[in-house]
Amino acid sequence: VIRPSQPGPTGDIGIDTTDVIVIGGGPVGLAMALDLGTRGVNVLLVDRSDGVISYPTAESIDVRTMEWIRSVGCADALDQSGFPVNYPRDIAFVTTMRGRELVRFRRPSNAERLSTTAGLSCEAPVWWPKFWFDTALRDRAAELRPVLLRYRWTCSAVTQSGDGVHVDLLGPAGEKRVVRAQFVVACDGGQSTIRKSAGIRMVGSVREARWQGAMVQIDGFLAATRFAPSVQYYVLAPRRLIFGSLDGGSFWRVTYPLSDHETPTIEDVTRTVRDALGGLDLPIVVHDMRPWSGHSVVAEAFRDRRVVLAGDAAHQMWPSGGHGMNTGIGDVANLGWKLALAVRGLAGPGLLDSYERERRPVAERNVRRAASNYAADIGLPNGPGLIGEGPVAEAARLDAMRAIRDTRATEWSSMGVQLGYRYTDSPIVVAPGGSVPPDDPSTYLPVVCGGHRAPHTDVDGLPLIDVLGSEFTLLRTQQDLPVDNWISAFAARRVGLKVVTLPRAGAYEQVPLSLVRPDGVIAWAGASGADADHIVQTALGFQAAHTQTQAEPTLGAVPTGMQQC
Ligand SMILES: Cc1cc2nc3c(=O)[nH]c(=O)nc-3n(C[C@H](O)[C@H](O)[C@H](O)COP(=O)(O)OP(=O)(O)OC[C@H]3O[C@@H](n4cnc5c(N)ncnc54)[C@H](O)[C@@H]3O)c2cc1C
Repeated sequence: VIRPSQPGPTGDIGIDTTDVIVIGGGPVGLAMALDLGTRGVNVLLVDRSDGVISYPTAESIDVRTMEWIRSVGCADALDQSGFPVNYPRDIAFVTTMRGRELVRFRRPSNAERLSTTAGLSCEAPVWWPKFWFDTALRDRAAELRPVLLRYRWTCSAVTQSGDGVHVDLLGPAGEKRVVRAQFVVACDGGQSTIRKSAGIRMVGSVREARWQGAMVQIDGFLAATRFAPSVQYYVLAPRRLIFGSLDGGSFWRVTYPLSDHETPTIEDVTRTVRDALGGLDLPIVVHDMRPWSGHSVVAEAFRDRRVVLAGDAAHQMWPSGGHGMNTGIGDVANLGWKLALAVRGLAGPGLLDSYERERRPVAERNVRRAASNYAADIGLPNGPGLIGEGPVAEAARLDAMRAIRDTRATEWSSMGVQLGYRYTDSPIVVAPGGSVPPDDPSTYLPVVCGGHRAPHTDVDGLPLIDVLGSEFTLLRTQQDLPVDNWISAFAARRVGLKVVTLPRAGAYEQVPLSLVRPDGVIAWAGASGADADHIVQTALGFQAAHTQTQAEPTLGAVPTGMQQC
């Protein structure tokens, strides 16, 4: 039985100033508040809704998001989520739910998830529906002393002055409040009024197609169908429709493309779902329904002085591949530590600028990948011709099977998308001039190199991400490598540095020293720390990077073939 989500905390705001105001309590806003609160930054998060989740999206959580969740102490919440841990994350393409299964992409359950990332990460992609995912973030954020969560408060205006931002807020009973902060993070979703009021345009292609969404309850669904459990069923006949599991049982999010002038009623939605069931006689209850449009857009700027955009406010993409929210959580991981240093007055003038320089290209890349997944999906053969007996229907099904196998596998083999993005053109990263592995959507090659994710390794029985410091970490492959100049360079900037000696160098073997940022990205890697002062100034945004000669990047264990994730 699905757990109804609860309203979020509301009430008086009771403060006039804070460090950062986060506008929007969707997953990205909650993650932002949680990241900042974990770093000791005072945060006020406001959301205009009551916080009850009535139309869930974004259950596909990627490995990089899981690593971030682990870093804020929230990963255990997965096991307490209501989604059955042993339910396979398979994707099945079928004619109708009573017809033929055409292709199945097998993926392990949440319980067996680590099999997909062995040697690459201590976390793995999971299926974690919003009822429990957003709630876990919210509950954890609410526990943190620096975080104040206030639902049913709407941000009506943001005014910037030289050294701060004033936010006008409207409360549940129409009461007004003005709260002042050093920074505002706009996590107010695709329609972001804050982005619009800052005059920041979206670049790309909007309203590429309209789809209908609905949350439906179909008791007996899994028992009635002959197919093995899957988190998603792609139905291709009589019209295409996707069932996405919300609880591993009766609750499903249904989505299907609409023709130009179609505006379905609840009866139309019920009939379309019934058709997709292929005659299975099951009760269909539509709990919520809403049309939505697919966009492929990225904001032209991610920041206007003290107002920063994150999540759907900064980029929107097709859901195909499940990269939208995950890209937003990537924004949070990149931005949190930079804002924390800025609030404390320890950031160089270029540090916040680097947010857009690093994240905008990743957003563009993920928007492209999602659009490519969508194009492959919408191009599949579909329609009533796939149903029935006889050579014509059989040939149509064979055709569809071939197309699915040829074009759809990469959507669920996206380890490269998840782990392989890099910030090699960043002004705060000292990146090598030499060659780096290609950014391939399916395959991730661990590489010890400025701008890339610090490869997973084991440190005395703990995964690397568990031993990273809350600020910077210097990894060294030998205990006797001198690090005094690094320690004094960070001390001069009043920023923390933890030094970790790797017991087994593994992927780091050829690179004696690696400077890892608070978000797990390598700021610099090389042989000698002679240039420590310059590198630290660069990593903190006091001066822009110039390409350095350093050790050639070294590849760790090279995974073979596609990684099903
Ligand atoms: C069918 C579908 C399936 C998807 N599946 C996935 C998936 O599996 N994985 C994935 O990563 N992504 C997925 N996505 C994308 C994902 O849903 C979005 O990227 C994600 O919800 C964006 O989160 P957000 O916090 O940026 O914005 P939102 O979730 O839109 O939250 C914005 C919040 O801001 C609040 N707000 C807005 N204006 C104001 C204001 N003025 N004052 C106060 N509050 C305000 C709103 O009430 C809202 O709570 C899917 C999308 C769809 C449509």
